[in-house]
Amino acid sequence: MTQDKREKIGIKTNCNQAKTKTCDQRTKKKLSATLLSLLDTEDEFSNIRWDSVPMDVKEWLTVTFAKKNEAYRLQPDEITSLRNISYALENSVVVERDFRKATTSMGMPYNLEVIEAMKTIDKWDFNVFTLDEAAEGHCLKYMMCEMFTKYDLLKRFQIPVTILLSFAKSLEAGYSKFKNPYHNSLHAADVTQTVHTIMIHTGMMQWFTDLEILAIFFSSIIHDYEHTGTTNHFHIETRSKAALLYNDRSVLENHHLSAAFRLLQDKDTNILGNLAIDEWRELRRMVINIVLSTDMSHHFQQFKIMKHILQCLQLTDRTHKDKIMSFLVHIADISHPAKPWELHHRWSEALLEEFFEQGDKEAEMGIPISLLCDRKTTNTAESQIGFIDVIVKPAFVLLFETVEKSIIPEAADSRCEKDSTYSSQFPQIKCNSLKNCPHVCSHIYTVMFRLSRGDWIM
Ligand SMILES: [Zn+2]
Repeated sequence: MTQDKREKIGIKTNCNQAKTKTCDQRTKKKLSATLLSLLDTEDEFSNIRWDSVPMDVKEWLTVTFAKKNEAYRLQPDEITSLRNISYALENSVVVERDFRKATTSMGMPYNLEVIEAMKTIDKWDFNVFTLDEAAEGHCLKYMMCEMFTKYDLLKRFQIPVTILLSFAKSLEAGYSKFKNPYHNSLHAADVTQTVHTIMIHTGMMQWFTDLEILAIFFSSIIHDYEHTGTTNHFHIETRSKAALLYNDRSVLENHHLSAAFRLLQDKDTNILGNLAIDEWRELRRMVINIVLSTDMSHHFQQFKIMKHILQCLQLTDRTHKDKIMSFLVHIADISHPAKPWELHHRWSEALLEEFFEQGDKEAEMGIPISLLCDRKTTNTAESQIGFIDVIVKPAFVLLFETVEKSIIPEAADSRCEKDSTYSSQFPQIKCNSLKNCPHVCSHIYTVMFRLSRGDWIM
């Protein structure tokens, strides 16, 4: 480890800096070791100005996003020849897919407000909050109907509309069980729509099979089902029933999967009832992979694997396709800082309120308050900038490198040059690293700039 690298992540030989004074030495050591291991192997992380990330935010990023996981390690024989998704598309390794534009083709009555809100469903800037108001709190139901119709999944997998609607009703009930400010049916609908947008604008929708498309949407819809509004860390620390059941491993994600598959045991809500047995088994395998990968502690491992896949993808390799599907849903799950400021602000406010409610519970229980969960001390803007710089921005850069074509084409005139005010504030974001997608690039700049300027109002 060179001195240069050490300095980049803020490990100074002189530890008297004001920001590090209050940090517990043991935690700092553990944190630094994890970050060092990332820098040793990942050149792209050396672009991050780690020293500008406050120690408590670094600590939260490490604890939340960097748990080691054996299951995500690439085997040497998985590394094969140089391929990527663009190659697949150019060389017709694609599935011809009819894509419907209509919103009412499944026979469910949509009111005028819903039809209006649905008009931007194919766009990156789609506003799920507007849809939810128009749908009187049932945005997830409409989102499911829309996606299952657009991708022709109802016909292909013989899913009766009445069963889809019953399933949607049960899912919405599960998502509102704990009245979470963030992890609720709006978030599930938003992730589903974001996955859809990425798929249509990258051409990925032509690359996946019908069964894979069903797995991707089923996973997006259920991925936070019956979320408790608390973190895996909280479950483990409080020795909750779920933590004991799942042995502290991806506690929430295991629960979302298990509870959602239990819904399918009832014939009235079993949307997968007409799948052939082999299809059902394969779908279940893919869904388990995708939803377990939404555990944020797998982020850096998942990131490393995607880097390898980008360099060494063999198209026929089942494992690689699985990982791309997982990355797609994961990136949609953390995408709100790449959306327009108003949407990002609303999501972040909701997420922090959920964190703070957990902090209140921890204070009541007399246990240490988790990182970023203390409403009295958390610096919201700093934590958001750290999250965007270290997690979101590199993930989007990687996505654009993987697809190697322009995505999210709307507002094509919002070129990076126009955002010179923002980019000069954040020289660590290289315009050319996001050149494939000026629209998303522009949102990330705007969000970071406005956070740093102090536009945050809770
Ligand atoms: Zn989620």
